[in-house]
Amino acid sequence: ATPTALMVGVGKGAENNILIRDAESLERAHQVTAVVLDKTGTLTEGKPRVTDLLWQHGPDNTLAASVLYSLETSSEHPLAAAVVRHLKDAGTQGVPLQHFEALPGRGVVATHQTIPYYAGNTRLLTEHQIVIPPTLQAQAEQLQEQARTVIYFADAQRVLALIAIADTLKPTSRAAVEALQEKGIAVYMLTGDNPQTARAIARQAGIAHYEAEVMPDQKAAYIEKLQAQGHVVAMAGDGINDSQALAQADVSIAMGKGSDIAMDVAKMTLITSDLQAIPKALTLSTQTVQGIR
Ligand code: ADP
Ligand code: MG
Repeated sequence: ATPTALMVGVGKGAENNILIRDAESLERAHQVTAVVLDKTGTLTEGKPRVTDLLWQHGPDNTLAASVLYSLETSSEHPLAAAVVRHLKDAGTQGVPLQHFEALPGRGVVATHQTIPYYAGNTRLLTEHQIVIPPTLQAQAEQLQEQARTVIYFADAQRVLALIAIADTLKPTSRAAVEALQEKGIAVYMLTGDNPQTARAIARQAGIAHYEAEVMPDQKAAYIEKLQAQGHVVAMAGDGINDSQALAQADVSIAMGKGSDIAMDVAKMTLITSDLQAIPKALTLSTQTVQGIR
């Protein structure tokens, strides 16, 4: 495309809530054969809320709730924000913590009065040899079938609470996926979330190909694999954890309300939460390259 055509394309993108940082990616986008979508905050609202907080060792959970509150206050994960909001509404107050650490793809850890506390997924618990009792496991599976994300709060010995969090599909995500599929594009979903929740959300979105429990560096490797198969890959994501994958993709799309890192890496940013902007961007690319005004 001529520089003028590209300028026009970038302008049209802006009119359609697509900020194109790099005109080259506008030229590249029409060749895309696969679109990889992050789940949380991309396909879903990214506004998770706690639906169940099941304490395991009552009757008084005041201190444990305070530790959980402070632990998740230190985290930047959207799931953590949901836990914090829920506990705040219940009047929970914080306690001082030491040695806070975020463990990507797993959760968070910190100590209170030298006792370590964990909030995160089964992988995090398994790594610290914390056993999930079978009855709790069964409850978790039931919640996950309902597309809830389940995380656990534990000390060094045992699970203290199960937390179920709902993050609903954006109303337009399914239509966006359909529009891509109608263009003959293969759509994939990647998530750090568990397989049951991933399956439930993928089904709702009309996505047949998905991978769950994907670690941040594995997201990039997955894209590399698709590229090795001959795909030209567009990736859309919102999180810090998506930045490697965005850098690997041929066309990278950040969500405007996502993390700054994702927006720094990505060549395109959607200033709408509506994923229908992605098929629009691909169409715009085709029109730009073909010189259609
Ligand atoms: P995604 O955004 O696709 O879910 P992440 O890598 O950001 O992927 O997170 C993976 C998983 O790690 C989450 O689904 C959750 O189970 C767990 N996790 C991450 N951060 C936290 C946190 N602060 N509290 C509890 N669980 C967390
Ligand atoms: Mg995410």
